Amino acid sequence: MSNQLIIENTANHVMNTYGRFPIALVKGKGVRVWDADGNEYLDFASGLAVCNLGHCHPDVVAALKAQAETLIHVSNLYHIEPQSRLAEMLTQNSFAGKVFFCNSGAEANEAALKLVRKYFAVRNSPRYQVITMEKSFHGRTFGALAATGQKKFQEGFEPLLEKFTYVPFDDIRAVKKAVNEKTAAVMLEPVQGEGGVNVPSEKYMKDLRAFCTEAGILLVFDEVQSGMGRTGKLFAYEHYGVTPDIMTLAKGLAGGVAIGAMLATDEAASAFTPGTHASTFGGNPLATAVGIAALKVLLEKGVIENCRKTGEYLVKRLNALKRKFPFIKDVRGKGLLIGAELAEGIKGGDIVKECMSKGVLINCVHDKVLRFIPALIVTEKEVDEMLGVLEGALAGVKA
Ligand SMILES: *Cc1c(COP(=O)(O)O)cnc(C)c1O
Repeated sequence: MSNQLIIENTANHVMNTYGRFPIALVKGKGVRVWDADGNEYLDFASGLAVCNLGHCHPDVVAALKAQAETLIHVSNLYHIEPQSRLAEMLTQNSFAGKVFFCNSGAEANEAALKLVRKYFAVRNSPRYQVITMEKSFHGRTFGALAATGQKKFQEGFEPLLEKFTYVPFDDIRAVKKAVNEKTAAVMLEPVQGEGGVNVPSEKYMKDLRAFCTEAGILLVFDEVQSGMGRTGKLFAYEHYGVTPDIMTLAKGLAGGVAIGAMLATDEAASAFTPGTHASTFGGNPLATAVGIAALKVLLEKGVIENCRKTGEYLVKRLNALKRKFPFIKDVRGKGLLIGAELAEGIKGGDIVKECMSKGVLINCVHDKVLRFIPALIVTEKEVDEMLGVLEGALAGVKA
């Protein structure tokens, strides 16, 4: 099928929930993808921070094929070897004591919110409210949607799950003011992704950890986007020298295959007992076998090191563009989760389209922060290639 035919078929049969670009991607290899008409693109969007190892990484493909020929799915009523091994790898490499598997970021956050409630319910505590951040993004299911501190995602879906309080990001006084005897947890992204690539200060994260411990409430990190090496460490919390009580993962966890996970300390996790939470597909043999392969590549093949180095290079080069194009107001981020904020009135979406027409895929959030989230295996040469096209697009902007 051609781009045009796929576009028409989509319009006729798929619900209209995405403003899609007018191409259909049919093939990928490393940091490149191809559309149905054979056009090649350098991919700095990576399935939205999912394909951290690039497209169709050979180790991921091999694990997928081998597991597909062995066992694709069984119920969680039975034990699943790759599930237990991926959980072991995750707990060995994080603060966590136990893992619950599901299938997406939103689902992982639902699991986290349910664990928060259960944690206090089994203690006969009246705490159930959760404080989240303005500009946060936690997903589209009802609980995750209520946790998301952005009106535009919630409109038309009220009444939302109670009870969330939204406070400004990176503002410890606001958190302290919002906490009361009903507060159960504070939940945040250690680097906000969808909200515009916002990085909090180390002091804020340390103060927040200390405050939650002191107040007897749980600290939840949504690392659905920032986790799995994306920020130059396996988990973004490592940048701040703090650990949460609960953490959620998804996007980059299984090399592009759908998966989600909610990790917790043994103490928090013990609130869940048989029957309290479940997922039919969660932790299935296929997704977790691929997750093992993907995590091995991340840990053993210098991918995170490359992310850190190439990320620094990208920031340096973007700052040079910022000096040349003053309508770039700010360049920020960690590792390869990088944002370039544009001045009011500059349409980021137009820049994205122009880059696409020249064979480079980048992303933009809120029409004003260009977001660069390439595979963590990207090279400086590929960064240069992207920037060459970006610079051309920026030169065409009427500021
Ligand atoms: C993408 C994202 C989610 C939602 O993940 P889905 O798999 O789309 O449900 C949640 N939290 C953060 C921080 C995300 O970036």
